[in-house]
Amino acid sequence: MEEHLDPENWESFRKLAHTMVDDVLDYLKNVRKQPVWTPMPDSTRKYLERELPLDGSPPEEVYEAFKTHIFPYNKGNVHPRFWAWVQGTGTPMGVFADMLASAMNPNVTIGEHAAMYVDQQVVNWCKSIMGYPEDSSGLLVSGGSMANTTAITVARNTMLLNSRNAGLQQFEKQPVMYCSAESHSCIIKAAEMTGIGKDGLRKIDVDASFKIIPEKLEEAIHADLDAGFMPFCVVANCGTVNTGAIDDLKAVYAICKKYGLWFHIDGAFGLLAILTDEYKGQLAPASLADSLAFDLHKWMYMPYDVGCVLVRNKENHRNTFSITPNYLLQQERGLASGPESLNNYGIELSRSFKALKVWMSFKEHGIRKYGRMIAQNIQQARYLADMIDQDERLERLADVPLNIVCFRYKGAVTDENEMNQINLELLMQLQEKGIASPSSTILNGRFAIRVAITNQRTEREDLDVFVKSCIQLGTSIASVKK
Ligand SMILES: *Cc1c(COP(=O)(O)O)cnc(C)c1O
Repeated sequence: MEEHLDPENWESFRKLAHTMVDDVLDYLKNVRKQPVWTPMPDSTRKYLERELPLDGSPPEEVYEAFKTHIFPYNKGNVHPRFWAWVQGTGTPMGVFADMLASAMNPNVTIGEHAAMYVDQQVVNWCKSIMGYPEDSSGLLVSGGSMANTTAITVARNTMLLNSRNAGLQQFEKQPVMYCSAESHSCIIKAAEMTGIGKDGLRKIDVDASFKIIPEKLEEAIHADLDAGFMPFCVVANCGTVNTGAIDDLKAVYAICKKYGLWFHIDGAFGLLAILTDEYKGQLAPASLADSLAFDLHKWMYMPYDVGCVLVRNKENHRNTFSITPNYLLQQERGLASGPESLNNYGIELSRSFKALKVWMSFKEHGIRKYGRMIAQNIQQARYLADMIDQDERLERLADVPLNIVCFRYKGAVTDENEMNQINLELLMQLQEKGIASPSSTILNGRFAIRVAITNQRTEREDLDVFVKSCIQLGTSIASVKK
């Protein structure tokens, strides 16, 4: 008897699958009525520590276990009042596109098949969004971290010649790159992984609005040149994770031109604001950058995971990664013909059909609607900031240049330490009571409650509920502390 892994009984599996579809749709339709987050009970924690199953169980039982132990204890970023870190919400079409992609299950690296062309078309659409030239190149990757790392690797291999062969030890002068003190931690990882090292990454000071100070950047480059280092790359922020600050892209571009440095932008979420009328002028210099990194699972609301890296000069991109072992040779005809292998443009070889959810979602909604959704989130952040500014019990802790609001409960408290403690407790209660899920950060030593809105389900009313709860809970925590 030969075995396989398809259902023993297709008809009962079909029934189960239909139940799953219905459960998913009910879940998404009614998510607003649920708590944002529910802490896991010990029974579930124990269940999820059980040992490797040696023998199988019926599909219905497996699904029951999912419904009991996994489904109810979601992270919550599908909920309208989830604003922690920077996380997207997903959409129903995205969910089912992922199902279709999984059913087709192509490995989208090489070959003559539709998924390769869908992938290519989505990358071309991304170039068009960013105003990148048609002959530029790009790759869909798992997210912003991978996109930034890929771009910085291209920067290294392009600017530091022969790095692929001889590594960085060939250089007498140590290569250095620049970002701001507010840059995302993945830039540090990228510097470490590309051999530049943390010591080769200069974190330039920011101004009171958390934007890089161009004069300081130029000073640092001068100092490095004088001291015998080899500057090669600057990473500008378009939407920092702490406050949403957008560096002066034009000024950074001018400095890169002047000193012949690679100009990269980490625009994980912020770059997508280029789709709004208000920001498209400010973000237009993105089209001049040597490389861009951004996510589609944050402010384009796609289910995880999908990000994108674009490289202005295709040859630079290709020369960084191209490698053709015998088992990946392309042919004139047949399955191994078709577009060039994507293995030549990135780190990953096997790639999922993540392009499908982007393709179907763009077609479903049209890019104009995405622009309106992003503008709506920005308006909601300003609405929240206004409510905070108008209430004496609350204090805003940073500008709101985009979609992120940092603030704290203040009440009559004057002691900074006490204020930090009260706000930490406030954050815990908001989350544990399932009211809302903001996250936190520390700005100039002050503990801040941080709301980042990349949520297609948020409505103003959600922010009203949130502010009311902050005041109520904050007041009660502060009175207990006394
Ligand atoms: C989220 C984020 C990243 C990392 O992207 P992932 O998709 O989480 O890997 C990098 N930079 C910024 C500014 C981000 O917000």
